Amino acid sequence: MSELTFIAPKVPKPPKHLADLDADGRRQLALDLSLPAFRIEQIAHHYFDRFTSNPEDMTDLPAGQRQAWVDAVVPQLLEPVRTITCDNETTAKQLWRLHDGVLVESVVMRYPDRATVCISSQAGCGMNCPFCATGQAGLTRNLSTAEIVDQVVAAAALLNSGGVGGDPVRLSNVVFMGMGEPLANYKAVMAALRRLTDPAPHGLGLSRRSITVSTVGLVPRIQDLTKEGLPVTLAVSLHAPDDELRDTLVPVNTRWNISEVLDAADAYARESGRRYSIEYALIRDINDQGWRADLLAQRLRGRLVHVNLIPLNPTPGSVWTASRKADEKEFVRRLEMGGIAVTVRDTRGQEIDGACGQLAAAYPQDQPSSS
Ligand code: SAH
Repeated sequence: MSELTFIAPKVPKPPKHLADLDADGRRQLALDLSLPAFRIEQIAHHYFDRFTSNPEDMTDLPAGQRQAWVDAVVPQLLEPVRTITCDNETTAKQLWRLHDGVLVESVVMRYPDRATVCISSQAGCGMNCPFCATGQAGLTRNLSTAEIVDQVVAAAALLNSGGVGGDPVRLSNVVFMGMGEPLANYKAVMAALRRLTDPAPHGLGLSRRSITVSTVGLVPRIQDLTKEGLPVTLAVSLHAPDDELRDTLVPVNTRWNISEVLDAADAYARESGRRYSIEYALIRDINDQGWRADLLAQRLRGRLVHVNLIPLNPTPGSVWTASRKADEKEFVRRLEMGGIAVTVRDTRGQEIDGACGQLAAAYPQDQPSSS
């Protein structure tokens, strides 16, 4: 039998976009397009301040040139496939098709005191955590900086138009807890963080502490982040207090173990002055035993942390499920007894497969994959 060779089709990169660029890049873009710099600033104002890339909204630009300038500076990156809401219209999951047909999701959640978007940093994920829906399909590709930022701008636009919860509200928080491992797409994510926090018209002007980057614990990248001078909130997906179990729940633990991950996070906390979060999905009879709560408290004692317990969102085909309420309560009680700050995450978005770890961009096969 002859051996088959598969050659991956060469997929063009996403179109270059304003949100990919720092100040130097924008100056260069103006030169390349033979546009005065103030024209780029006008478009940036529409994009970062008014959350629009629609040429019809840009009435301060000459009508004849608007479309061409928009195509060159803020081309469409995310084509909306569908938006579904739940939780009494306060949660909206948005499914996007990228220029090469790849699908990604983001989730907008409105709370009494804040409005949060949970965004994807990669299409798929290569970390292979067995309880996570995204992990099951593997990594398709990294997202570009602008593909990441544009999810946030789209969420801000949706919130601004009253599309989540009825009345207009400003986006306040961003969490990198959608599809992908943000620190495995390090360069694009760092540039995205700068765009999200730079003041308008250079960026969205969000506060750094209202942005959370969640990681499986890629130690060298946590160390790099520590040196960036970008004090965002760090979340570490621990899910087990012992290496034996964590090796199976978060396979990258075989490369960097719990002590190494916690030490790197501690150094980040010292440098940034911000406490970090420990994410812990409670899985029935797997990681929710009382002794594991005690061990977790013991390992976290004296560290600048806060534990976020997430009731497991069961993924299709998995035998694992959420802990019994009594076990969850006991787990919380033991952590508190051990002097550890702990909260239990709400399970927003569950009925639309938009809850933690459920983002898998499922889409009926009979739909056209590109338009
Ligand atoms: N790669 C990053 C972001 C992933 S999603 C990370 O691992 O941190 C954000 C959080 O949701 C992570 O803590 C992840 O472990 C958790 N998660 C994944 N699948 C889940 C599920 N089925 N139920 C509950 N939480 C889950």
